[in-house]
Amino acid sequence: MNEQMMKAREIITGYKGRPLRIMEVCGTHTHEIFRLGLRKLVPEGIDIISGPGCPVCVTAVGFIDEAIWLALEKGCIICTFGDLIKVPGTEMSLAGARAKGADVRPVYSPLDAVALAKENPDKQVVFLAVGFETTTPSACLAAKTAKEQGLENFSLLTANKTMPNAYNALVGSADAFIYPGHVNAITGNAACIKLCEEKGVSGVVAGFTASELMTALAVCIRLLEKGEPFFKNCYPRVVKDEGNPAAIRIMAEVMEPCDSEWRGLGVIPMSGMKLKAEYAGFDARLKYAMPEIKGKPNPACRCGDVLQGKCKPSDCKVFGKVCTPLHPVGACMVSDEGACSAYYQYAD
Ligand code: SF4
Repeated sequence: MNEQMMKAREIITGYKGRPLRIMEVCGTHTHEIFRLGLRKLVPEGIDIISGPGCPVCVTAVGFIDEAIWLALEKGCIICTFGDLIKVPGTEMSLAGARAKGADVRPVYSPLDAVALAKENPDKQVVFLAVGFETTTPSACLAAKTAKEQGLENFSLLTANKTMPNAYNALVGSADAFIYPGHVNAITGNAACIKLCEEKGVSGVVAGFTASELMTALAVCIRLLEKGEPFFKNCYPRVVKDEGNPAAIRIMAEVMEPCDSEWRGLGVIPMSGMKLKAEYAGFDARLKYAMPEIKGKPNPACRCGDVLQGKCKPSDCKVFGKVCTPLHPVGACMVSDEGACSAYYQYAD
């Protein structure tokens, strides 16, 4: 443990003030905070809660149903990041659809799906575009590449989300946010600074190593003690105020903001991204004249409450019994970044 970590540890463990709720809003932070044992460091008065930071977890049930409709009704090849395959839809997961004959393939990048479409001109390929500002640029690049190559058998089913309006929806849920460093590396800090200045929402941007997380937590505690709203970038080696101009540019070129449904949070105005009119030919919902498909979450699952910090995974009646990583009932148990999965793996 270096000197900076020792100092941070002293501040965290020595805290004796009023009860604090600090919400991390990043699936990677959820797991790293558990894995590094940081939860065991914080004294009883500090509650670290998880917010809607896992891209798979916040994807609505209806989106899974839409993907299954494309696979089974339209015979499309569905390409997706692996985690999404096990997420339960209303009646089945994509893994279940695969057992019924659907062609569902995990890919590492949206460009892999573009390549698959190019290799299979007689098949229709749909990439499931989910995630935050960290993954949206690569989905945009895939659409742009497909357009440049004149591919007519590739499209995106979009459920891309943006964080600022989710923070807005969560105002009052915690005393401060630990903002995801990789998201701010793309977007910059303007939205977080605005939240602080206009709504008094406090937060720190954190990196992902033990030292970076401990420092961010200690800074957050010290600034909360002062009682004034604050924003602090504790990940300056990666996060710049202006963000990543190239990533921002391609998102603005290919997509535009739209209302978006978040699991557990409902529809948050202007919290999603959809393809612009110039890319309508690559929008799977338009291309296949998809009917409105509304998903129904399993009533036993409390993912929605977990994602808003209203309860801990262990408060869910089926946690660790009916719902396990091998047999997930909800998305938060599926994803490696989900809070339920983290609790299952690391909590005592
Ligand atoms: S334990 Fe399972 S069912 Fe309960 S909230 Fe988590 S994912 Fe949903």
